[in-house]
Amino acid sequence: MSTKLQWISDELNNLKQQGLYNNIRTIGSPQGAWLVVDGKRVLNFCSNNYLGLANDPRLRDAAKKAIDEFGAGPAAVRSIAGTLTLHRELEARLAEFKGAEATIAFQSGFASNLGAISALVGKDDVIFSDELNHASIIDGARLSGARIVRYAHNDANALEDTIKKESRDAYRRALIISDGVFSMDGDIAPLPDLVAVAERHDIMLMIDDAHGEGVLGRGGRGIVDHFKMHGRVDIEIGTLSKAFGVVGGYVAGKKEIVEWLNQRGRPFLFSSALTAADTAACIAGVDILESSTELVDKLWDNARYFKSEMKRLGFDTGKSETPITPVMLGDAPLAQKFSRALFDDGVFGMAIGYPTVPQGKARIRVMISAAHARVDLGKGLETFAKVGKELGVIK
Ligand SMILES: *Cc1c(COP(=O)(O)O)cnc(C)c1O
Repeated sequence: MSTKLQWISDELNNLKQQGLYNNIRTIGSPQGAWLVVDGKRVLNFCSNNYLGLANDPRLRDAAKKAIDEFGAGPAAVRSIAGTLTLHRELEARLAEFKGAEATIAFQSGFASNLGAISALVGKDDVIFSDELNHASIIDGARLSGARIVRYAHNDANALEDTIKKESRDAYRRALIISDGVFSMDGDIAPLPDLVAVAERHDIMLMIDDAHGEGVLGRGGRGIVDHFKMHGRVDIEIGTLSKAFGVVGGYVAGKKEIVEWLNQRGRPFLFSSALTAADTAACIAGVDILESSTELVDKLWDNARYFKSEMKRLGFDTGKSETPITPVMLGDAPLAQKFSRALFDDGVFGMAIGYPTVPQGKARIRVMISAAHARVDLGKGLETFAKVGKELGVIK
């Protein structure tokens, strides 16, 4: 009998023993404050649906209308026969919303990072990357073939020291990359400091605003707006699958960058376009964000309330400055046990362990949304208090 696949079962068993095996739940309902998960109705603390747009009737109607007008599938990559009027409309609307010269839409935030980074730098170049950057940045950087130098998390001085240590003349081009909001801890990159370093050394600066848009800045315009740094971040990555509630991603920046990505962005050239339904739903999302700050305000009210109550109960919610609320537990098996107990009591809060977060920093990550009502947050707090006491995490 062949044993060439035995290693997979061994590795899977290892994951289970270490409490690092991903138990993937299946959802039988639309996204919202409550979900049907594995057949059970539970309070949802897991989604990136910050503004509750994922099941908003205005987005659903826009998607249906676009299917009637443009059909179900794009049938081509964008550079051959796949670029719809809708794609160009979304790109123009996003540019206006973000205060950027232009944008280019991709199929996801992940694809946007892969496409942008690999088109901007290559094997003769260097990337300075925050040590906690998202996996799609790391993969994009690797794909580019550039030398990757990591710097200490959110530390602009460390970044500058690193830049000085590398001999800049040994490279053709250089690029600094950081997440805007870090998805596991909810802390915010020190953007003005990063901009200052990038400008002093004349290095391109890229910020991934996946968890910042719809959350930070005026009406959710993102981290650049939050810090009033318009025109000083060369490349912004966005996702349409978090606050925008749909799926897709984009790159925002100067016209020539977007033009270059239209020519050289590999996921743009070699993977089929976003569907018409997704694109139209995203445009409806931009409409909503531009028309009112109500959802963004509610998100922040909910986040402030939940975080202060969790602290009052005695939980450690880390260093979050955003609606991302990590409930720090340390041990991966404890985090999994906590998550199972929450689920038994009707609360869906996912345990997150290595390699998504460092060893010993396992947690339940609570994602607060504008879709939550105060009573929902009350139910969540009550359940966290009960399970926390049972498992000896709080007194
Ligand atoms: C979620 C996320 C992505 C990926 O976005 P998708 O649209 O889901 O592919 C990229 N970067 C960061 C920082 C993210 O948090």
